[in-house]
Amino acid sequence: MTSDDYFNLLNKANGNFSDLNRTQSRLKIPDPDVIYEGKSTIVRNFGDILEMINRPEKSVVKFLSVELGIGITIDGSRMIINRKVSPEIIQDKIKKYMDSFVICYECGSPDTEIQRLGRVEVLVCKACGAQHSIRMDKDLKKTEADIEEGKKYTVTITESGNSGEGKAIYKGYTILVPGAKKGETVTVLIRKIRRKVAVSEIVK
Ligand SMILES: [Zn+2]
Repeated sequence: MTSDDYFNLLNKANGNFSDLNRTQSRLKIPDPDVIYEGKSTIVRNFGDILEMINRPEKSVVKFLSVELGIGITIDGSRMIINRKVSPEIIQDKIKKYMDSFVICYECGSPDTEIQRLGRVEVLVCKACGAQHSIRMDKDLKKTEADIEEGKKYTVTITESGNSGEGKAIYKGYTILVPGAKKGETVTVLIRKIRRKVAVSEIVK
């Protein structure tokens, strides 16, 4: 064991070094160092990221797994996601985790900890003293995913597209409906969503 290893071990044991690190750098989460192997995505510096997030590995991995909708395994300090995911998406999900579980809702400090009060988890800020129950991400998700692939919606066609398809605006999305005419109200099945455009087919 080198002296560095020993030092790391000590730090892991009492967590002081990472606290210091966090305060000094105002929490710079390292960019995910991503490589692809077959169909898997490997985040090689997940250990470093986790250290900065300063929350239990289990909690972070579970969150990311739910967010990405795919299994995740941890191999030492590497995180292995069982499909291809871009570094930007990983970064975005980590940021989402930070917003819910790390960053103080009042003052924005990352110098916080999670305490359990009975059945409720509370984010306690060491900088400003604020205490908030954890803002569950479900609430955010609801507003984000107003429409979902594989679900049915009833929409009114307000425009005709260039290829003769009908277009409906629904919850901020443009839904393309082949075979539908302007003025019709149809029930459609969403096939694919790309950004704010959804391709659908008429079911009724
Ligand atoms: Zn605060």
